[in-house]
Formats: sequence, structure tokens, C-alpha cells
Amino acid sequence: MRIWNEQLIPKLCRQHLLACWREGLGAYSIITENKKGYSQHPAVKEFEGYPVALLWRLFKVRNEMIFRGYKPKELPKREYHGEDFCGIIEPEPWQTLEQQIEILKSKKCQCNI
Ligand SMILES: [Zn+2]
Repeated sequence: MRIWNEQLIPKLCRQHLLACWREGLGAYSIITENKKGYSQHPAVKEFEGYPVALLWRLFKVRNEMIFRGYKPKELPKREYHGEDFCGIIEPEPWQTLEQQIEILKSKKCQCNI
């Protein structure tokens, strides 16, 4: 499970873009519905307490998918709370951008890194 840095989203190959969407949605439901599943996974822990930041990341993933001609489903609907309007606070990333670049490079996939 991996939710890539927003700077990497336009560079992801098809496989990594679609996995990021699927896994990001999974992480969102784990966080917002208190599901057990992968709740201890560091990619999920990163966004624990930051559901709006995760939705924002997913929004960008979804836009990239639309740009490439995919037809992703709608983003999860969210009831807004007062604190949501204080700007989006990004969590401390589990992996740095540089670490994620190294991981993608090692995959020998079609990511444009
Ligand atoms: Zn890739």
C-alpha cells in the first residue's frame, strides 16, 4: 500500500496511478470508518487524523486519471467540519519524496521518474 507524493502523481505509470487511487480510497475508508484491515500500515497511519489531506491527494490522483482518459468513480462524500476550512494541513510524510523516487526507480516500470 502506497500513497505517492503529490509531485509524483503526473509521473506515475498506469499501474502505479491506478494502485494509488485504489489504495488511497482504501486508506480513506479505514480512517473514516475505523476499519481494522490495514489500519497499522504506515501509509494509513500517515493520514490518520488527516482525512481532508488524503481526500485532496485523491482529488489530484483522480484528475490525473481523467486527464489520461480513465473514468474513475466519484470521490467519497464528506461531511465538513469547522476545522476543514482552516486550510489543508498535510501530515508528516511516512517516506520522503526522495525515498519514493528511489522506490519507483527500482520497480523498472513505466513511471516517468
Ligand atoms: Zn510505475
